[in-house]
Amino acid sequence: MILIVGCSSSVKTVYELPVEFRFPDKRTELLKIFSPYFKGKKFFLDPGHGRKDRNNIGYMGNAIEADVNLNVALALKMFIIEAGGTVEMSREKDTTVELKDRSAIANKSGADFFISIHHNAPNEKNDTWTNYTSTYYHAKDSDNEFEPCQRDLAKYIQRDLAYAMRNSGGPGSFDGTYSDYNIYPREGFSVLRLTKIPAVLVECGFTTNEYESERLVVDEFNRVEAWGIFRGVCRYLANGIPEIRFIKTIANYSNNNLNISFGIKDSAGIDMNSIKVFIDSVFFKSFNFNPKDKILSIDYPAANYGGHIIRIIAANIKGNYAFPFYYNIFVENKMDR
Ligand SMILES: [Zn+2]
Repeated sequence: MILIVGCSSSVKTVYELPVEFRFPDKRTELLKIFSPYFKGKKFFLDPGHGRKDRNNIGYMGNAIEADVNLNVALALKMFIIEAGGTVEMSREKDTTVELKDRSAIANKSGADFFISIHHNAPNEKNDTWTNYTSTYYHAKDSDNEFEPCQRDLAKYIQRDLAYAMRNSGGPGSFDGTYSDYNIYPREGFSVLRLTKIPAVLVECGFTTNEYESERLVVDEFNRVEAWGIFRGVCRYLANGIPEIRFIKTIANYSNNNLNISFGIKDSAGIDMNSIKVFIDSVFFKSFNFNPKDKILSIDYPAANYGGHIIRIIAANIKGNYAFPFYYNIFVENKMDR
């Protein structure tokens, strides 16, 4: 079903409703499949801009980004709650929230995920033709701040959001997912850098595009956008997120090492080749993973006195990475007996 919502002199506003909007049974079916994955999950939604910051007004002043962001975020909130998750937002009205406050509130919220919702504008002022959907994660592979789980979430959201909107991904990457370093090298977006929970930022479409601006102001289309993000989150969660936990430290007097063990749990199974261990940000290769009992053992020289930070990265066989995992150890100047 193609809806023709309104016509301006030159552009027809066209979008397609997701099948779950057209057939209530399909919607019930989808919620039944994915609801178990939302249990106990909290989402922090951040509609970009607002109040004092209403600079991106879109094509002919028609689609004000701050308002469109809020509309999409509020619709997404409803879908997540319907699925059984919980939601906190940086703003639920047209209010001013400073960028650093958005991250600070999110970090205190106890949320599992942070999704910042934006709509794009081109660099060139008179560009009324550029339009695509893109999703950002913080930092790049080679960088210490890079958390692969953020790229996982971005990939799933990007694919379903772009599909729901029938937009292509941005031209600079295979599917429209990007590191925020592509925009601000070695810095990224401050809202992603300062947010310590897994975070992504979506740029759903361009408010400045003549055709896109027409549909971005239609409530139903904002719900279609939100549905796209929601579907992406559903499929991301269904593919599982490995859990890492500390088990114990044992002193090994024969080789003067500390044996530190961690459990890595995932219902799909762990991809052994994905496991990486860093100690104080340096790649550490003296570890062993036993796929049978799912225990990772690290042999750490007991002579390295003082405080250290162990970081573990691991993915399941479906390619989803664990949440950021850091564990502090303190090696005393004498091995405990
Ligand atoms: Zn924005």
